[in-house]
Amino acid sequence: MNQETPKQSEHKKSCVNCGAELKYKPGSTVIKCGYCNHEEAIVLSDTSFEELELQPYLEKMGPQSHTEEISMLHCKTCGANQHVEENYKSLHCVYCSQPLIVEDAYNEDWILPGAVLPFQLNHQQSHAIFKKWVNSLWFAPNKLKRAALDPEKTKGLYVPYWTFDAELYGEYEGQRGDYYYVTESYNTTVNGKNVTRTRQVQKTRWTYASGTVSGFVDDTLVSASEKKKNTIPDKITHWNLDQLESFNSSFLAGFVTEKYTLSLENGHLKSTEKAKQIANGWARQDIGGDTQQVHKLNMKLSEETFKHILLPVYISSYMFNSKKYHFYVNGQSGIIDGNRPYSFWKIFFLVLFIIAVVGAIIIFGKQT
Ligand SMILES: [Zn+2]
Ligand SMILES: [Zn+2]
Repeated sequence: MNQETPKQSEHKKSCVNCGAELKYKPGSTVIKCGYCNHEEAIVLSDTSFEELELQPYLEKMGPQSHTEEISMLHCKTCGANQHVEENYKSLHCVYCSQPLIVEDAYNEDWILPGAVLPFQLNHQQSHAIFKKWVNSLWFAPNKLKRAALDPEKTKGLYVPYWTFDAELYGEYEGQRGDYYYVTESYNTTVNGKNVTRTRQVQKTRWTYASGTVSGFVDDTLVSASEKKKNTIPDKITHWNLDQLESFNSSFLAGFVTEKYTLSLENGHLKSTEKAKQIANGWARQDIGGDTQQVHKLNMKLSEETFKHILLPVYISSYMFNSKKYHFYVNGQSGIIDGNRPYSFWKIFFLVLFIIAVVGAIIIFGKQT
């Protein structure tokens, strides 16, 4: 059983054969040399992830037992903070591809990740997904489809998230609504005659309701990446957290890691909002009936714990007709989303074609 926490996330793992840097091989538990293919197993911790007690961290950033220094590069254009587990000579921001100056790197404390979801897809696979996506786009310029999109521009990024666990207890007051139907008569005209008809109308009977709800709120996920622009689209931010591994810096080798820009405190505020929505849902379930209103809800969270986790995304930005576009691939599921260019001429001719067809129908219709 390996219980030691890796203290040096910047410790480079070099190949014993040729001295080159070893990089994490997606979908595996090994780090691999890109030159001689030498592989080394990542020592996995078989202890469960450590949930950290929230309160000491909120009061003062912990006893520093779970923080360490990490070198960071800040992007002035989009505000992302990123750490690169590799010696690059020139670096570009993963989000907006602005050049970053290596000499500007500075060390700062961060709360060590408790767990990481290792990349399951490699660069080639994510690039193949991108190509397929481009080919399926309607009204995309032919030039874009033909363009040999540079796989080198695709970067694997570990995105920071906070997750929170808590015991929830809530007291609520509200109304329970039960539907019932009444028969109403109404007047209408049928073939020029006034007739009286009946219809069923739904009504709601409201009664006072109150009670308590309680339960465990598990893994409330809050994105810890706050940026001015280029935020990751919601469509790709669903991960199966069963594949989380205890943090080991080997999983980061060869990838970029982003440092949280949303503080733990603000992350906690967001998760508390989410917990309130959960409590509201529980209260409605508890009230029962066909519809419910919750007027008052006092919620208490206790035994709160949190984790800082890293989740895998491939990001690529590409230039097209001197405009910048981005696409994102979930590094676990391969779900893709992004923004894309439209071909003006393809849309123009389609609209022209529709106008021609509509015009022909009108002219043909008048002739008969
Ligand atoms: Zn080697
Ligand atoms: Zn940037």
